[in-house]
Amino acid sequence: MNEVCHICEVGPRDGLQILRSVMPTAAKLRWIEALVAAGLREIEVGSFVPAKLIPQMADTAEVVAAACRLPGLKVVALAPNLRGAQAAYAAGAHRISVPVSVSRGHSLANLNREPAAQIEEVARIVAWVRDQPRAMEVEGAVSTAFGCSIDGVVPARATLAIVEGLSRAGVDAIALADTVGYANPAQVGALLRDAGGAIEGLHLHDTMGLGLANALAGLQEGIRNFDAALAGLGGCPFAPGASGNIVTEDLVFMLESMGFATGIDLDRLIAARAALQAGLPGEALRGQVPQAGIPKTYRQAA
Ligand SMILES: [Zn+2]
Repeated sequence: MNEVCHICEVGPRDGLQILRSVMPTAAKLRWIEALVAAGLREIEVGSFVPAKLIPQMADTAEVVAAACRLPGLKVVALAPNLRGAQAAYAAGAHRISVPVSVSRGHSLANLNREPAAQIEEVARIVAWVRDQPRAMEVEGAVSTAFGCSIDGVVPARATLAIVEGLSRAGVDAIALADTVGYANPAQVGALLRDAGGAIEGLHLHDTMGLGLANALAGLQEGIRNFDAALAGLGGCPFAPGASGNIVTEDLVFMLESMGFATGIDLDRLIAARAALQAGLPGEALRGQVPQAGIPKTYRQAA
């Protein structure tokens, strides 16, 4: 029996928010269906933010509701505040991801709020969610956990203080996000060890080409939950210089080759790129494995 790794596909949220073009709702849903057909069981499908700030996410309530009708899929949405959390709940989301930036510069640019004030907002969200008749998981996503393109160096103690604040706020899970892709494997390993098991997942960007190396560092410290985006889409509109997420196809190849079962069929995953490309004509798709082709040596973990 192989050990299991969970991949949350974040392309429909993190991948689209930075693009100039807006993907039509029907195209998003065909893409999400193709991802589910490939075996993805957790997808972050959108973001409950004002449409005037991020027009690509204007249809998130509709996308969440439609995704919730797909059997066996955990539907995740980003919610930056209580209003967004309430909208996510109303739409039927199974989990919300609430960002808290470690660096002040990114916090003000992304959330228009100091980090400490955002921790208080998370506590309000958790209290509200716990009062509702239906369960909805709340994840605290620690943005700029390893560095910031606005403020530069992010000290580990600052990241750990945010992690502690999120634990106190009572979230169900905490993920560290390398929002701008500045992390290195030694830093990832050290921070996870310092956090002492408080971290469930990693959200990594590949700006410097170290995304998979950082994922491996996390894997070695016991992390089994990773965000990734099909074709390596992604970036933060409020973090200048941030590039795409780690490529889901390449991550699946690495994990399955190492004997970690992801439940994802790599052939079908690569086929899902067609549905993505159909919704984003002309957009460049990344990925080493899709480009090279799946080698004959590849075996999916049982
Ligand atoms: Zn991201």
